[in-house]
Amino acid sequence: MYNLIDGKKVAADVLDKVAHEAQELKSQGKEVTLAVIIVGDDPASRVYVNHKRKDCEKVGIRSLEYALAEDTKQEELMALINELNGREDVDGILCQLPIPKHLDEKAVLKAISPAKDVDAFHPTNVGYIMLGDYTFLPCTPAGVMELLYAYDIPIEGKHCVVVGRSNIVGKPMSMLMLKENATVTVCHSRTRDLASITKQADILVAAVGRAKFITADMVKEGAVVIDVGMNRDEEGKLCGDVDFDSVAPKSSAITPVPGGVGPMTRAMLLENTIRAAT
Ligand code: NAP
Repeated sequence: MYNLIDGKKVAADVLDKVAHEAQELKSQGKEVTLAVIIVGDDPASRVYVNHKRKDCEKVGIRSLEYALAEDTKQEELMALINELNGREDVDGILCQLPIPKHLDEKAVLKAISPAKDVDAFHPTNVGYIMLGDYTFLPCTPAGVMELLYAYDIPIEGKHCVVVGRSNIVGKPMSMLMLKENATVTVCHSRTRDLASITKQADILVAAVGRAKFITADMVKEGAVVIDVGMNRDEEGKLCGDVDFDSVAPKSSAITPVPGGVGPMTRAMLLENTIRAAT
């Protein structure tokens, strides 16, 4: 019988702690504040930004939203980031990605002050993650680690296989597991005979972006399976990168989609905002 890793519950615990800390800071005269920039009308980005605002409200963090037009010029966006960097009442800043193609995303991420970079995408913060010496961690990999800790899943000495090497999920995920003394293998689209590697995983993290890509024949009996994917299936229903129905019975523990990693990503952003304020 497998253990269902309940991301909603663990996220609720993180949010309780964050709410308590935000309240403590308020009583000392400090109102924790997150500034969120959104450029253009991407519907998915709008949904994410709305979630962030509501999450802030729930835990007593003040949120400021800067909704810029699709045709915003690079200089205007940079000027806004500079202004927010300099404001003492703003603790955390994030720019919702993706931004319109005419804007230089790398320059935008670099412009956000590393001390306010609650997404941990600035090269300085990415460097600190490599060194294992950080204030902020990218929210999704940090959320995965919290789930493993919450369920007392041992990491040291385990073979962790991460499928996906993106800058926001796969790469930092592998660094965090390495820091916990796992043996880590990172797979990607050019990996040969993927199943032969995923089948060796004690802990398998799927961050691919393909619906139900990881099937039962790719998973070792008793593995812990963490599904980062957020995709739509043929019927338009939200699903992960793991074929849950076939993989779950083979696993010892598994995250569902929805209700697994997603809520943790949202919660870790607020935890990072508290870190930025203290
Ligand atoms: P991404 O930037 O598109 O990266 C996908 C990775 O998967 C790439 O490294 C790619 O390899 C690899 N890949 C693609 N096809 C593959 C294949 N056939 N075999 C092996 N590897 C393959 O995506 P991402 O931003 O990391 O996101 C991954 C998934 O997580 C998406 O579904 C996304 O929506 C979801 N996500 C969820 C959360 C959450 O809070 N739950 C947060 C962030 C992302 P190459 O590098 O070789 O191209």
